[in-house]
Amino acid sequence: MYKTKAFSAVSATSPLASTAITRRDPTPHDVQIEILFCGICHSDLHAVRNEWSSIMPTVYPIVPGHEIVGRVTKVGSAVTKYKPGDLAAVGCMVDSDRTCPHCQAGLEQFCPNMTLTFNSPDKHLGGVTYGGYSDSIVVDERFVLRVPSNLKLGGAAPLLCAGITTYSPMRHWGVTKGKKVGVVGLGGLGHMAVKFAHAFGAPAVVFTTSPNKKEDALRLGADEVVISRDANEMKKHAGSFDFILDAVSAEHDINAYINLLRRDGNLTLVGAPAKPLGVSAFSLIMGRRSLSGSAIGGIAETQEMLDFCGKHSITADVEVIPIQKVNEAYERLLKSDVKYRFSIDMASLKSE
Ligand SMILES: [Zn+2]
Ligand SMILES: [Zn+2]
Repeated sequence: MYKTKAFSAVSATSPLASTAITRRDPTPHDVQIEILFCGICHSDLHAVRNEWSSIMPTVYPIVPGHEIVGRVTKVGSAVTKYKPGDLAAVGCMVDSDRTCPHCQAGLEQFCPNMTLTFNSPDKHLGGVTYGGYSDSIVVDERFVLRVPSNLKLGGAAPLLCAGITTYSPMRHWGVTKGKKVGVVGLGGLGHMAVKFAHAFGAPAVVFTTSPNKKEDALRLGADEVVISRDANEMKKHAGSFDFILDAVSAEHDINAYINLLRRDGNLTLVGAPAKPLGVSAFSLIMGRRSLSGSAIGGIAETQEMLDFCGKHSITADVEVIPIQKVNEAYERLLKSDVKYRFSIDMASLKSE
């Protein structure tokens, strides 16, 4: 075991602050990574403040962060895919049981015994796993990903959660060249969905409540922007979408979007409103439309997504911050005051 620097919160009402945590020494199958950047995901904030206590209560102290990119510093004797000096990434999972039907299908994200990158029981050291707001991390090579060398690392970090969360359902529901895609909400997830749709050659329409996001949406690759409060504008798109990605966590009328789907079209939820949604059965029945959800992606698909991003030079639009600004960043995140993701430059942790 060794000590490494980190930022942690000791209670639901405490700010994140500098600390030291213990990591395991690499086992034969482990890769040790010096963390260079870690994106700030909304789930970090939910977990730090114990807002999902009914589903996964937070164990304190918590070290959040699951959008990790860095450089390999050490590998175990049985590691074959990585060597010291390689760029590497870690997303939302660090292990799974590897035997259940989900794991066998390469869909580790649905494994009932999956180990999340933070706040999950740690099989090696006991306690819970600690995430990426840290100097280094040790992860089994099967859950480590390669990062294309042409990508800027600060912007590559959010691909590990925001990127795969949007890429996976688009691939699953067959978004390809010429399919009409809708993106509801232009935040961390939505802006990635626009970039992917554009790269797939699929015309993308962004739905937003803020007219001031119009220009930015077009810059990111959207073909059209619809102000969702404008019923006439909405009507023009009725029955025309192959796929809509809904990334909104606030309460909203889902039927207004389901009605925009064409026959056999799908709307996938990746935002998680706290209250149940009211879905009109007729909206689904007429046109055999479907409504579904999606969660990140498997390891193989996450690698596919990173390789796709390398080929198309796709990264998240980020505001890079030092770790000392993380509490301020959380407050701004609550006001959606970021374009479009915060990425922590971990070099800033060295001065702590
Ligand atoms: Zn996340
Ligand atoms: Zn499994």
